[in-house]
Amino acid sequence: MDFIDLRSDTVTHPTPAMREAMAKAEVGDDVYGEDPTVNRLQEMAAALMRQEAGLFVASGTMGNLAAILAHCGRGDEAILGDKSHTFYFEAGGISALGGVPSYQLPNQPDGSLAIEDIQSALRDPSDPHYPFSRLVALENTHNRCGGTFQTPEYTRQLCDFAHAHGLVVHLDGARIFNAAVAQGIAAKELTAPVDSVTFCLSKGLCAPVGSVLCGSKAFIAKAHRIRKMLGGGMRQAGILAAAGIVALETMIERLVEDHARARKLADGLKQVAGLTVDAGSPATNMVFLSLADEVTLNGLQVEEKMKANGVLISAIRERRFRLVTHYWIDDAGVEKTVAAFRQVLH
Ligand SMILES: *Cc1c(COP(=O)(O)O)cnc(C)c1O
Repeated sequence: MDFIDLRSDTVTHPTPAMREAMAKAEVGDDVYGEDPTVNRLQEMAAALMRQEAGLFVASGTMGNLAAILAHCGRGDEAILGDKSHTFYFEAGGISALGGVPSYQLPNQPDGSLAIEDIQSALRDPSDPHYPFSRLVALENTHNRCGGTFQTPEYTRQLCDFAHAHGLVVHLDGARIFNAAVAQGIAAKELTAPVDSVTFCLSKGLCAPVGSVLCGSKAFIAKAHRIRKMLGGGMRQAGILAAAGIVALETMIERLVEDHARARKLADGLKQVAGLTVDAGSPATNMVFLSLADEVTLNGLQVEEKMKANGVLISAIRERRFRLVTHYWIDDAGVEKTVAAFRQVLH
């Protein structure tokens, strides 16, 4: 049975064009810098981000980790949001492997960090009690805050503030292209001012594996060594990069369709008694909703019954769900999902 899979945009399979490009990819040993397909992907990514250089990495987690380890020495502090992916979902890697402590600031409801909060988190470098404040991490779109996005204006403001105080800015842009198309702008407007950015090829862009970390040439040279240290130096990785190239060439603009379907899904679910869609959801390709008090089923029970109706969803808390639209969800899938919820709850 073919399920309608709304658990995440990471479940996307490669498209037929990607499989063909992978089969035909020209490859070499990328640890020697000799894989032409990886090199081409890295150049394309850097140009799209308006950064000097790119580095193909195994995952977004590896990209963020390599970036923060390249920017920070042991004991340097990274300022990040308390709902950020790096704080929440990356197994504490920056601290465990890099000796980088984090200063967690409350994410605003839209996923941003308040500049005043960053200001008050800054350490006095002359006081030996403190770690050195070194880096601010921003996330765009913001996963745990609802797939919300930041504007170019905010990004520039944050970077200007950070740079004026001797900090660098790393952007976790796992879904940066969702943030860009949602605003009708090019991604580079959101990435040019930051010191480094990671984005995922393996989410809404449908490639099977990989992310690209971008930044200055000197930064990427450091990150390259750290990637090797982390075990991420891959050999004929052009097989994977080939799918990434197809993703960058053909899958960015169409993300607007995922956003439109997320809206359609939210509108449909608002009509189902027993469900409350979050105000303002969706901002991009994620719909957040909760079970109303009168519903006697819990989240896991709803999840199971939805599966029996051919729809995969995952409860993110006891009575709360995140539904994510992507390339493999069409209009019929949206309609079937709304009908399945109605069936399960009544
Ligand atoms: C998915 C995601 C990551 C990590 O990417 P992986 O490839 O799954 O390691 C990092 N940040 C955000 C915001 C994400 O959504």
